[in-house]
Amino acid sequence: MELTFVGADHEVTGSCHFMSACGKRFIIDCGMEQGPDTYMNQDIPVDAPKIDYAFITHAHIDHSGLLPLLYSRGFRGEVYCTDATAELCDIMLKDSAHIQEAEADWKNRKAARAGFSKVEPMYTSQDAENVLKLFHPLPYHEKIEISEGLFVRFIDAGHLLGSASIEFWLSENGNEKKIVFSGDIGNATKPLIKKPEYISEADYVVMESTYGDRDHKQPEFNDFAKALSKIMTETFDKGGNVVIPAFSVGRTQEMLYFLRKIKEEGLMERHLDFPVYMDSPLAVEATHVFNENVADCFSEEALSLINAGKNPIGFKGLHVAVSSDESKAINFDKTPKVIISASGMCEAGRIRHHLKHNLWRSESTIVFVGYQVPGTLGNTLLNGAKEVRLFGEDVTVNARIENLPGISGHADRTGLIKWAKAFSPAPVSYFIVHGDSDIVDDFASDISKETGAKAYAPYSGDTFDLLTGERIREGVPAAPAKKKAHRLSSNVFERLVAAGKRLLHVITGCEGMANKDLGRFADQINALADKWER
Ligand SMILES: [Zn+2]
Repeated sequence: MELTFVGADHEVTGSCHFMSACGKRFIIDCGMEQGPDTYMNQDIPVDAPKIDYAFITHAHIDHSGLLPLLYSRGFRGEVYCTDATAELCDIMLKDSAHIQEAEADWKNRKAARAGFSKVEPMYTSQDAENVLKLFHPLPYHEKIEISEGLFVRFIDAGHLLGSASIEFWLSENGNEKKIVFSGDIGNATKPLIKKPEYISEADYVVMESTYGDRDHKQPEFNDFAKALSKIMTETFDKGGNVVIPAFSVGRTQEMLYFLRKIKEEGLMERHLDFPVYMDSPLAVEATHVFNENVADCFSEEALSLINAGKNPIGFKGLHVAVSSDESKAINFDKTPKVIISASGMCEAGRIRHHLKHNLWRSESTIVFVGYQVPGTLGNTLLNGAKEVRLFGEDVTVNARIENLPGISGHADRTGLIKWAKAFSPAPVSYFIVHGDSDIVDDFASDISKETGAKAYAPYSGDTFDLLTGERIREGVPAAPAKKKAHRLSSNVFERLVAAGKRLLHVITGCEGMANKDLGRFADQINALADKWER
């Protein structure tokens, strides 16, 4: 019964934990690293074909985004998550694959001009389609036997539609242990979705610590709606547009919730019939997923609206743009309007067209509602840039730029400590992950003081024996390797090696098969080897 830390250790993104228990090998989350990379992640300790299950806490790409890569390396096991997570992964993994393919295309056009060889995408749309067929959605709150001695239960983490903390009951040779993975813990003041639930029993807890060092200083729910109403009134008075860059899944639906509230409660003195354009095919699909998972995931307030016959994220005057013609038409129409588009940090996507059409207009306003990573166009605009480059053109910034951070999706320090202290009695150990390197160690010692339990912030590669609670292998923190110029093409070689390993795995499983079949299989492998041996 072992637990190995793989990703999001002394880092925020790339969540992945590996377990070997009850005769099975499985991972909890399979996330892509995004943004700054502090430490190299160790590989999952076994090859992809030998992994029996992947359990996914929620659909955010830093928790699910490498599943298609795992498939391309030979994973054929089962993927377990909640219904809503499976539905969101269906659109998000396909979207992520498109991004990988588009990036490779762009690099290949550049490489062709420079005379370099072609690169391959990290994974393809086909890999995404294939791994999605391995998904087995499970309901919240039901303790389910996955295999002999291995039980799981998904509990609402209140972070994103479908998000979960996962409880595992492990029974091996008469020894029983319970381990809980927090996933991302939600913020109880977030609108639309349910609040995070608490768990009271565990021997071990693996928990996130994104905001382990601070409490949110964010507007109260109603203050946010009022602040947004004021900006909209002032902008519409001048005849301008309000452009909101927002992530398609989660933040966009939250904005729809606020805009509906503003209209319904008459929070603006005039212009209340303002039109809203949701311009992102992904956001449109995600909004459908939200509307299909109401009973399981919506907050009491949102459910009471539904019971009163209202859609919490729908209203008169909401238009959606799916095709690029529909998107272009938005800027031909001169009616002052709200435009919500992706990406949330203005790095790619249709939002860049809307910025091009509105940044030069002094009557328009750009409202940022989420964190803007330094170096992104969103961050540049927030820092007061007077001119930015879009589609090869310099665009003067005359528009008003506003920062109105929405309600965070993550629990703050007080929320995290409350979640950790719900375990009674305290577990043997807490493992603190998913936080910046300078936060996790301090938060671990705080949790230890608060609960009296051991708490430890692991590095990638650290392995613990869950029967004794002792660390049996130490991960060595290593700085990330400098990006190789052709990192993507080396990925194709890794893929081939993985395919070879998978073949060996299949061969081993053939022991005992009829000699006739074994002979035929050997002939086919030899024919393939003859074809490729150089
Ligand atoms: Zn998340």
